[in-house]
Amino acid sequence: MKPTLVILTLLTVMHIGAMAQTEMIAHRGSWKNTKVPQNSLASLHNAITQGAWGTEFDVHLTKDDVLVVTHDQDFYGIDIATSTYQELLAKKHPNGESIPTAEEYLNEGLKQKKTKLIYELKTNKLGTERTLKAAELTVALVKKLKAEKQVEYIAFSYEACLKLKELDKKAKVHYLNGDKSPQEIKAAGLSGLDYHLSVYKKHPEWIAEAKRLRLKTNVWTVNREDDMHYFIDQKIDYITTDEPELLKRILNK
Ligand code: MG
Repeated sequence: MKPTLVILTLLTVMHIGAMAQTEMIAHRGSWKNTKVPQNSLASLHNAITQGAWGTEFDVHLTKDDVLVVTHDQDFYGIDIATSTYQELLAKKHPNGESIPTAEEYLNEGLKQKKTKLIYELKTNKLGTERTLKAAELTVALVKKLKAEKQVEYIAFSYEACLKLKELDKKAKVHYLNGDKSPQEIKAAGLSGLDYHLSVYKKHPEWIAEAKRLRLKTNVWTVNREDDMHYFIDQKIDYITTDEPELLKRILNK
């Protein structure tokens, strides 16, 4: 390569780096202002239609080893960890949808390529063994669907994060619980931090430190305009929000 071309290439790379702006992740899909259930296929569609960089969803493991998408430990009163998938079908979302399996949810998300699928693996209330089982089934499912490039993982369970990374070395895995420094996350081989906004406010140096270590930074759940501006000014990589319409307006200004 000619020296001038090397310099031009370097300048381009530096320019793209400086331009990198905060991206939006819809928390549990886009549901609040569109009035559909959180973590439903409808909320996934809405986040994709709104052009979210990513759309987050929560995954639990049933008693009979089916990965299902919903936030709470129960689905309209039916406990997930101690119930079968069939038993969960007794209830429906108000929009008529049944609880989606992770496979159904991913298949729907994979119909497009622009919006990343941010897969939160929930901690199983029956213990670490079940959480790690869920991690194994998760990586196997993502591999089966050839979804590795479009899926990124997040989890509160540190053991689950390490397991996901062990099972797929190239996977992007971000830790949620807020009790590890950027140095610890780097040393563990994880991809980044995804912390509650209060954690970053308590450790205002962590975003810059994470950047120096080439870790990604994500913050949840930012629903207020002043907090959105605060984290955009900090040049955080991703903001996870229940208010994607508001964040989109701010980012597009
Ligand atoms: Mg979540």
